[in-house]
Amino acid sequence: MKVRFWGVRGSIPTPGPSTVRYGGNTTCMQLVGQDSPTIGGEYLLLDAGTGIREAGLELMKMPKPLRINILITHTHMDHINGFPFFVPAFVPGTVINIYGPVHYEKRLEEIFAGQMDYSYFPISTAQLAADIKFHDLKECEFDLGPLHVTTHYMNHPVLTLGYRITDSSGKSFIFTGDHEPYYDFINEDGGGGIDSDFEDVQAIVDEQNRRLVEFFQGVDILVADAAYTPEEYLTHKGWGHSSTDHVVDWALAAGVKKLVLFHHEPTHNDDKLDAMEQYARERAAGKGDGSLVVVNARESLVVD
Ligand SMILES: [Zn+2]
Ligand SMILES: [Zn+2]
Repeated sequence: MKVRFWGVRGSIPTPGPSTVRYGGNTTCMQLVGQDSPTIGGEYLLLDAGTGIREAGLELMKMPKPLRINILITHTHMDHINGFPFFVPAFVPGTVINIYGPVHYEKRLEEIFAGQMDYSYFPISTAQLAADIKFHDLKECEFDLGPLHVTTHYMNHPVLTLGYRITDSSGKSFIFTGDHEPYYDFINEDGGGGIDSDFEDVQAIVDEQNRRLVEFFQGVDILVADAAYTPEEYLTHKGWGHSSTDHVVDWALAAGVKKLVLFHHEPTHNDDKLDAMEQYARERAAGKGDGSLVVVNARESLVVD
């Protein structure tokens, strides 16, 4: 099992000369077999940001009919708005299963259809010729052919699932989706709450962060939202994204083998991302035993 990146940017596409090395497409990656673009005869994509358009063009070169699974971390635009441009969805005979977190006010299928409402897009979901099924998920475990999938709620302003996937050889992969550390937002200013509340809330926060490191434990490849520098995080707390310090520290605590920095901030150009990668590597080397590999995600990169 390997991961191939089709879109690595967060929030909004950022084409242009200053982002050409890492790429400007939003979130999309593919898990592929060791020697095959499929796993168990099916294609597996995670998230459907603008990077999925290129992924779809690549899949169209493959033998038909296509069987495709798409795991959605959450329904923010940068994670789903490439789907209307995913060509296999227009091809009769294609089977697409889309999995994502359950919403209490709308089903996953309604959210996907909503972005193809005529106010936003000229083609409706009724014109998608593929056989498309939606699956609303909570924290759970299930099998996709030879892969075992475990989902875990992450901390983001909308319900978000991280996915841990293990193949038949035991190799494991995690994609966090968008996430920031749990923190006590009720008593954030240190005052206002009574002491017993503060302790209760802090215990819950600590437990959630502990569970997350447990979820990451020993994984071979961790693809993690590392949108911010530590300094930037201070002014973006509550926006739902982590810093390089957060993800390096989790990876070290959980004994992760490879950490892939992902969901690059739209204001970060190629040179800035180079500097953040270097910074993260130095932190990993300084705090760990030197075995953690740290790499920036970029379009077309394949991580083994
Ligand atoms: Zn995002
Ligand atoms: Zn998001």
